[in-house]
Amino acid sequence: MSKNYVTGFARIGEKRELKKALESYWAKECDFQTVKNVANELKQRHWDYQKSAGIEYISSNDFSLYDNILDMAVTLNAVPQRFKNLQEEELYFAMARGSKEAVAMEMTKWFNTNYHYIVPELSPQDNYVLNAKKIIQEYKEAKEYGLTCKVNIIGPITFLGLSKRVDGGDCFELYSKILPIYEELIQEIAKLDDTITIQIDEPIFVKDLDTKILSLIKPTYDKLAGISSHVKIAVVTYFEHSKEATKILINTPIWALGLDFLHGVENSDSLQYIADSDKTLIAGVVDGRNIWKNDIEKTLNLLDTIALHVNKDKILISSSCSLLHVPFSLKYEEKMNAEIKNWLSYGVEKLDEINLISKIFFQGKESLTQNEKNALQENKEANISRKSSKLIHDAEVQKRVKNINHREREGNYEERIKIQKQKLKYLPLATTTIGSFPQTPQIRETRRAFKNGDLDKNSYINEIKKYIDECVAFQEECGLEILVHGEPERNDMVEYFGEQLQGYGFSQNGWVQSYGSRCVKPPFIYGDISRPKPMTVEWSTYAQSKTSKIMKGMLTGPVTILNWSFVRDDMPRSEVSKQIALGICDEVDDLQNAGIKIIQVDEAAFKEGYPLRKTKVQEYEDWAVRDFKLAVSSAYKETQIHTHMCYSEFNDIIATIEAMDADVISIETARSGNELLKIFAKVGYKQEVGPGVYDIHSPRIPSVEEIVTQIYSLLEVLPKEQLWINPDCGLKTRKYEEVKPSLKNMVEAVAQIRTNF
Ligand code: GLN
Ligand code: ZN
Repeated sequence: MSKNYVTGFARIGEKRELKKALESYWAKECDFQTVKNVANELKQRHWDYQKSAGIEYISSNDFSLYDNILDMAVTLNAVPQRFKNLQEEELYFAMARGSKEAVAMEMTKWFNTNYHYIVPELSPQDNYVLNAKKIIQEYKEAKEYGLTCKVNIIGPITFLGLSKRVDGGDCFELYSKILPIYEELIQEIAKLDDTITIQIDEPIFVKDLDTKILSLIKPTYDKLAGISSHVKIAVVTYFEHSKEATKILINTPIWALGLDFLHGVENSDSLQYIADSDKTLIAGVVDGRNIWKNDIEKTLNLLDTIALHVNKDKILISSSCSLLHVPFSLKYEEKMNAEIKNWLSYGVEKLDEINLISKIFFQGKESLTQNEKNALQENKEANISRKSSKLIHDAEVQKRVKNINHREREGNYEERIKIQKQKLKYLPLATTTIGSFPQTPQIRETRRAFKNGDLDKNSYINEIKKYIDECVAFQEECGLEILVHGEPERNDMVEYFGEQLQGYGFSQNGWVQSYGSRCVKPPFIYGDISRPKPMTVEWSTYAQSKTSKIMKGMLTGPVTILNWSFVRDDMPRSEVSKQIALGICDEVDDLQNAGIKIIQVDEAAFKEGYPLRKTKVQEYEDWAVRDFKLAVSSAYKETQIHTHMCYSEFNDIIATIEAMDADVISIETARSGNELLKIFAKVGYKQEVGPGVYDIHSPRIPSVEEIVTQIYSLLEVLPKEQLWINPDCGLKTRKYEEVKPSLKNMVEAVAQIRTNF
């Protein structure tokens, strides 16, 4: 028996087949039956991959046409009132994407991943009833296909913990209405087979839970696991340790407990409790969050330590979480440097690792077939090669990083801002934008043609310059005060820098589902990072040469670059971040020496890098702030440093934002009036702030009056000398037809207000 387990598998398809089917269905180019056919094919293919890799516990219901939390909401009939006249797929996709009559449900990040789930909306008026159709059907499909699967469902505590109440109340007040539906669901599933395994995902157990939530764990699982003797319940957690919940769960009648031993090393502290109970341990030891080959020897050592406590018969070897979070298969990486490719492992390859590890662990190396022996040998060699490769280790970078600890720019804020105001001479309520202007079809085509070699370098440069010319001319015409070049050369704010940094790799097909049909292809950091030459100076200085106004330089900050990449696992993230910061620091220096007076270092992903556990927050904040400051440490006192963050909930982190010490921060507050700005005033924040005055996520053009009102409401909170006026994020996803009138109205609004000063 192989005794291994996979938490869940990707569903988008190795060639993003699901994405393509969904998008053509939404565009009315095919019917729903076509989507269903593709989905069925994918489910079968994904089961095949797992079966042929020798996986024992394979999932059903890990597939979804959009999102598993949305599926769970539908299963419970937690359907918001505004969708009540819809049915079946129309209802499902309207909840996810909105319809003519009803706005979509909110979407938010799944823990600390880049996956987004649909936030269920609950109301005390809801009438919850079971709709187990999808779950039952998927189990039966697998069965007909010759496979006995476990059934994956999202657990009730996580479901309630991630939902929101439409009336602002506490979701857990609805616990007693929701739990009976779960009981019914388990009863229904129990009818499907003689014995059946249900995986209940409770990732919320890895957060710091209050006592009220902790107190629900025992009654919930006493109930659910006590329903039927032929149902085996596995409660699975991931992304961090779940020590508090573990202690409770071992005293419930569940069959097994899934723990992440990679991202929650503290789970090892629970081993003795588990050993003393009758629970099976699903040991997450193959990383479902990263793309590196498993170091099998190391994993076997970890498992040996686990086996010092827990009896081997009670261990299953597993992925650390669903393989949804890694790309599908290395098979399609045809262009990648062979040495680097040899260090990687995507979803399909991880299945083989899980199988190989479990075989060695339970049956010994002697039991391996010749092919498996070769695979083990190759694994060993790949890990050795990675430890010593010249591609990874750059002595120069290591030396430079070692000599730097804390490095900060000259002068304190009060001193700097005085010099800057004198030199830069901008007025109160200075107008600017966040950086990008609309990405036109031509500009996308220009970049694509250049990348594919269909456009020569000179023509490419000319095309980009033409865009910049027009972009600068428009900003002058409309009367904006601090200009930008518009970022036409960038496809993505991380990829653009990654491509120019040494130590960064790119995949051809490394797609990971981000939400619904959308995927991202994160670059990966495999080695020591350095910046061989300036990355943005040419474009920024060209743009500056086209205007007598101030041209703002545009960079992405180290923490954001890190958080939106797959990061090497042979070095602490904080060290990698420091290396990136040094590269950015050189760029800041080159920009200012080339005459750029204001430089914005975007930290759009600063907040999402926060650890799930409070005890780890301080450490993250320490190095994240350290590295932002390091990245701008080369700035002269008179060089004004801006930063931008794509959110507005700063209440918990305001002290940290302050500690970053940027001269100006632009933030996203447009949708919440001045509410979220209040914290800045409350803590006596000194630096300047640019709260977004209109929402760029909508095509709507804001009127002058509306922006005037918005600015007055900001002025109730902060004095005009401290405020900048800008849209709430970059304009790249908008069209010029929307952007031009919106920005003109914004400038006009400021002009009207200034006449009253
Ligand atoms: N400078 C980037 C832009 O304007 C910032 C994008 C972002 O914050 N996500 O597009
Ligand atoms: Zn933004």
